Amino acid sequence: MTRPRRQRRFVTGPVPQTIVAFHAHPDDEALFTGGSLAQAAAAGHRVVLVVATSGEAGLSDEESADGGLGSRRWCELEESAVVLGVARIRHLGYADSGSEAQAHPDGATPFADADVDEAAHRLADILTEEHADVLTSYDAAGGYGHPDHRQVHVVARRAAALAGTPELLEATVDRRLIVPVLRLLRVAGRVLPVPRIPDDTEIFAPSELITHSIDVRDHLDAKLAALRAHASQATGGPRTITLLLGLPRPLARIVLGREWFCRVE
Ligand SMILES: [Zn+2]
Repeated sequence: MTRPRRQRRFVTGPVPQTIVAFHAHPDDEALFTGGSLAQAAAAGHRVVLVVATSGEAGLSDEESADGGLGSRRWCELEESAVVLGVARIRHLGYADSGSEAQAHPDGATPFADADVDEAAHRLADILTEEHADVLTSYDAAGGYGHPDHRQVHVVARRAAALAGTPELLEATVDRRLIVPVLRLLRVAGRVLPVPRIPDDTEIFAPSELITHSIDVRDHLDAKLAALRAHASQATGGPRTITLLLGLPRPLARIVLGREWFCRVE
């Protein structure tokens, strides 16, 4: 069976369009969509970043001053947004669900437990206000399966319908490419910031669902700088960001030089 040709550019059509990139935590924007967002911004499109949480339940070795890890990660997100060319950042107002059950003393609802309709209305209000042409979210698996990431998938689909956003692109990784890497990582030890590395068949998206395969090598420096901005996430044990930032340039071009999306019809 021949596969339909994949789109090679993130945003097609006239400039400027408005892209709203919806993410669970600070650093996800750089990891999953950094090159595409930088490409879109450099082409003159308006890029708006929405995060569901401040990522305050993330791992970090370092003591965070004033406001704890959440406010530190918000600052890191602002730095990442500058290098990617993001015009505006919004917070949806939820707590990071973290990797394990924990208390949320500030009273915010963990995003994974949020009422889908309520969260979708919050996002839809931003989509409407921004006259968004494109919304990005995550594949149905939520990438590697973090509950906040799975919730991003569900909430974005509902919000795009509510706001009538013309295009919904779900960021993913081609499962065919990531599975051999995960097998290596399992041998090398625990590297991904999740309690377990899920089964191969549960993660990201199968090749046949991918509609966009974007070459972002021209924006690799911006993507690397965005990843570097999330310095707190390069501590707290062996981490994905540390691993990626340590890659020699030729390998970084291969591993970080492409991003994938599934267009929702
Ligand atoms: Zn995340």
